[in-house]
Amino acid sequence: MEDEQKPKQRKPKRPRGKARLIPGKCIGCERCEPGCPVEAISDSASGKPVIDTDKCTGCRKCVKICPVDALEMYYTDEELVVIEELRAKGLWKEPVEAKPAATADQSYRGVWVFVEQQDGIAASVSWELLGVGKTLAHDLEVDLCAFILGKDVEHLVQEAFSYGAKIVYLMDDPVLTDYRTEPYTMGVVDLIRKYKPEVVLMGATGLGRDLAGAVATILETGLTADCTHLSIDKERRLLEQTRPAFGGNIMATILNQHRRPQMASVRPHVMRKPVPIEGATGEIIREPLNMEEQDIRAKVLEVVRDERGLGHVDIAGADILISGGRGLQGPENFKILEELAEVLGGTVSASRSAVDAGWMPYDRQVGQTGKTVRPKIYIACGISGAIQHLVGMQDSDLIIAVNRDREAPIFEVAHYGIIGDLFEVIPALTRRLREIAKDHRSPNDNNRMVAGDKS
Ligand SMILES: Cc1cc2nc3c(=O)[nH]c(=O)nc-3n(C[C@H](O)[C@H](O)[C@H](O)COP(=O)(O)OP(=O)(O)OC[C@H]3O[C@@H](n4cnc5c(N)ncnc54)[C@H](O)[C@@H]3O)c2cc1C
Repeated sequence: MEDEQKPKQRKPKRPRGKARLIPGKCIGCERCEPGCPVEAISDSASGKPVIDTDKCTGCRKCVKICPVDALEMYYTDEELVVIEELRAKGLWKEPVEAKPAATADQSYRGVWVFVEQQDGIAASVSWELLGVGKTLAHDLEVDLCAFILGKDVEHLVQEAFSYGAKIVYLMDDPVLTDYRTEPYTMGVVDLIRKYKPEVVLMGATGLGRDLAGAVATILETGLTADCTHLSIDKERRLLEQTRPAFGGNIMATILNQHRRPQMASVRPHVMRKPVPIEGATGEIIREPLNMEEQDIRAKVLEVVRDERGLGHVDIAGADILISGGRGLQGPENFKILEELAEVLGGTVSASRSAVDAGWMPYDRQVGQTGKTVRPKIYIACGISGAIQHLVGMQDSDLIIAVNRDREAPIFEVAHYGIIGDLFEVIPALTRRLREIAKDHRSPNDNNRMVAGDKS
């Protein structure tokens, strides 16, 4: 009973304090203002942000966000007394500030492109990357470089020069005959640590995805996969890496502000391959692989090639694509697209809806989760033009869309639009093209029009 009458000992309330500016430190980066959850900060761009102390709840978010430690917490005299009391009782824990972000090592310079090869044949994406790399190197005012790993791959150096590389780093070693993650990763890591490039680009192929991820992990740097656009923020020397995000519903531009190198991968056919310049020359820098065969855990017992061979259709490499979507209504109707493809010398591809419905195999799918294509002519038939489809084909040289819905988004990217029923339009087009081909046919020709025929 006595206990009940005793006044309960209340723990003193932990003072939260308020944020304030340390004069002369703010760089006006504006990060604190949107970071404040109670909108207590204004005028952050001015370099003298104003903090409304009535609104500030002492959450410390702005203090943690500030990259130059220009904000601090302060306490009233009453609060300081309470803090001292708590400290004496061992109840005051010093607030832990977030670790300041590392600043990027500014000694890194140069744009590097990985020349992926198999059996001494370079993947086309490597040359496509040298194309975009040239623009990036120009904007950063640095050299465009290529790096090649493999066995007996020196012939690729000349090819790299012809596609714009000024310096080629070459690591030629029998251990690198077949791709294995461990030696390739260590080879690339050693090159990057020694020469410090600020941008490293790789193809988002099976091999490239494996290698880029492993290299970025060891170097503790960022990697943006499957970029669809790359550019440079010249003032801050940052690579702007744009790629679809949130299921392709938005395009996100990602920056790596604090680590080097800035790494990005790009899928084949997303970037335009430059025209090679014959006789172009540059500098070769040879580097040894610092690994012996016995150091490597994985052994290649047998290499099994993809046996799909000649029958296999590579829509990514096709010059003319006739693509069908849900508007085709069934697998049997793809025949009319095949007839048009036959007369044009093209290949049939499909939207994901058509693939998901089982009307076409997956290797014919165009789009974000299918293939990226860049044909000379892309004819979209009964395809609405969802963003996930557009990201895979919008860089085609000529886009023709056939759709009965005049509001279909595909018309926003199409150079020519035919509003109508594809079951009437496509056979009519095929008939007309056959007639034209017949008129142009010489006795030795078959009835196929040649890709690029102006008629
Ligand atoms: C994470 C994610 C990834 C995705 N990846 C891909 C991808 O890689 N590729 C892809 O294509 N999609 C992808 N999608 C799906 C995408 O969002 C669309 O659902 C899909 O592209 C729609 O396919 P469609 O245009 O064939 O079908 P629909 O959107 O149903 O369009 C059919 C069109 O046909 C037209 N039409 C119908 N009948 C006729 C006719 N008789 N004549 C003329 N026009 C007609 C209609 O007007 C309509 O515009 C993805 C979605 C997500 C969420």
